[in-house]
Amino acid sequence: MSGTDRTKTAVDLKGPVVILVEPQLGENVGMAARAMGNFGLTRLRLVNPRDGWPNLHAARAAAGADHILDKVELFDTPAAAIADLNLVLATSARPHDQAKPVIGPEAAAGEIIAHIAGGGDVGILFGRERFGLKAEEVALADRLVTFPVNPGFASLNLAQAVLLVGYEWFKRAAGAALPHAMPERSPRAGKQQIDAFFDNLVRELDKVEFLRPAEKRDTMLVNLRNIFTRMEPTKQDMHTLHGVVMAIAEGRKGPAKGGVLDGTQATRLRALLAEQGTGRAPEEGGSVRGLARLLRRNPTDAERMLWEALRRDRRFAGDFKRQTPVGRHIPDFVSFPRRVAIELVAPGESEAIAADRAARASWLAERGYRVVALETAEIERDLGAALDRLAAGG
Ligand code: SAH
Repeated sequence: MSGTDRTKTAVDLKGPVVILVEPQLGENVGMAARAMGNFGLTRLRLVNPRDGWPNLHAARAAAGADHILDKVELFDTPAAAIADLNLVLATSARPHDQAKPVIGPEAAAGEIIAHIAGGGDVGILFGRERFGLKAEEVALADRLVTFPVNPGFASLNLAQAVLLVGYEWFKRAAGAALPHAMPERSPRAGKQQIDAFFDNLVRELDKVEFLRPAEKRDTMLVNLRNIFTRMEPTKQDMHTLHGVVMAIAEGRKGPAKGGVLDGTQATRLRALLAEQGTGRAPEEGGSVRGLARLLRRNPTDAERMLWEALRRDRRFAGDFKRQTPVGRHIPDFVSFPRRVAIELVAPGESEAIAADRAARASWLAERGYRVVALETAEIERDLGAALDRLAAGG
């Protein structure tokens, strides 16, 4: 049954006996047994069930509580059903006007547990669906149990009444322990770890002068710290937050957004694409564009260095674009206003790559582009010289 973990052992608490006096519907007996099973009760007694016993409807409604139905005990009278017990509670929605303490289900659970702990045996009487318990049956009991309900609509279904009593009993008897809880994925962060994170955060906030004006600084720090204290963060939370703060503070370091390759892998990707592309017929614009996006997201180290320099350097006024298609070709950099393309040449390139580049260069040259080849080694060794050469026209 869903929600039932058969690998878990059933609870083994000694509970009260449930006694149904002349139950009418087999379904209600079955559902009562099911409710008992849910709350660790096992002992069910029936006094003259109207439709006989065993009962097919009861078996169906019990939904697997067979261990309870199989052990049902049958009696001819309520007196016989309680003969071996020494504390008996009668449940009723109605006031019976008898000199007998009336208690709620929680107090009943307390009395049941105390009595059983003292070595006693307890029974709870439930009445018929149509008219409940007779006065003389209530008279057999030590207590009358009634539920806090809407007085204008007080009568519960028989099985639901059993469930409610079972629930209150089990909650107390099992110490209100829930069978499962939110999994602890990472242990709580220690105060020292939170402190280290916080110091770091404050240092970064000071760099951008966030904690201003000066007279508000202390209050801001208290409020800020309380955000993290209230979070009750785990160690993993602290690692994550630390990473977030540093990433924002230091800017991106790894591949550009959406990139997954490091510099060496990106270089290999370029080589592979160049070799594949040799002598190929022009492809549709869509694939060229997809390729451009892939290359843009995965810059090689030299490409990233040159890209950052080109954007910073005023001489180029930021008009170079990276990995942008020109027709069906993708030079490493292109400036449309200058009509200049830059090709990065990696050391030890294969002939196929060189041929691919030569084809692209002549195609670009035919359309009036000046193609500047820069060695990646040169960029990595002396970026300034490379830029000067570019600014000087070649
Ligand atoms: N019509 C019946 C109620 C039958 S309900 C009457 O008026 O008494 C079947 C049984 O469920 C009741 O006999 C009683 O044992 C239990 N029960 C139903 N509602 C209850 C309530 N509000 N408090 C305590 N027991 C209740």
